[in-house]
Amino acid sequence: MKLSTVQTIKQRIDDAKASYKASDNISEFISPGEIADLIDEVEAAFDHVLDTLIIDTENDNNSRDTARRLAKMYVYELMEGRYQPRPKVTAFPNTGHDRFEGMLTVKAEITSMCSHHHQPVRGVAIIGLIPTGEVIGLSKYVRIAQWCARRGQLQEELCNQIAKEIMTSTDTENVGVYIEATHGCMEHRGVMAHSSLTQTTVVHGLFHNDAVKSEFFNNVKNQMRHC
Ligand SMILES: [Zn+2]
Repeated sequence: MKLSTVQTIKQRIDDAKASYKASDNISEFISPGEIADLIDEVEAAFDHVLDTLIIDTENDNNSRDTARRLAKMYVYELMEGRYQPRPKVTAFPNTGHDRFEGMLTVKAEITSMCSHHHQPVRGVAIIGLIPTGEVIGLSKYVRIAQWCARRGQLQEELCNQIAKEIMTSTDTENVGVYIEATHGCMEHRGVMAHSSLTQTTVVHGLFHNDAVKSEFFNNVKNQMRHC
């Protein structure tokens, strides 16, 4: 019997002994052209969910194409960072007498979703970096942060993941990441909090140093003033 696209992709992941958590990127296991088939299969599954919720997708005009809209939204938007490969990043050498020896602080607006309830998580990630041998274009910090965010995540996990990816791209350990975000999960359900502002921070390398840490948090404060 022919395997479905979902089964084929899962088979490849299992063969590679890799994981496919909501926060994992699985793009290397998907061949070009399979995304369209994947969306068809996700659509059929959402169609079943809507039917099980006893929603009349045939006669309710507003719900008629909802299964397809949901499938495309998950694959192309909400969880894009799972299915699309890492953004292309060119590293530039930071060497010689005019190399930059200071701290770089970049703000990235992020939209994510909690992996528990698939509710929106919205906020900013502020990335601090003291480069060693390499730097990357400013927009690349933002693209990497968004690529990590567009998955099912917990904020703690996202903070770690952005730090790790920035360390890989810039080949330095000297990275700090601060995230401030609101959580639909707390505002629309459960405790129904009117504000769910949550802050997470991770620091690596030189950012463990007190003076560096306080310069970073001072920059974070200045960045947040412009939010
Ligand atoms: Zn949740």
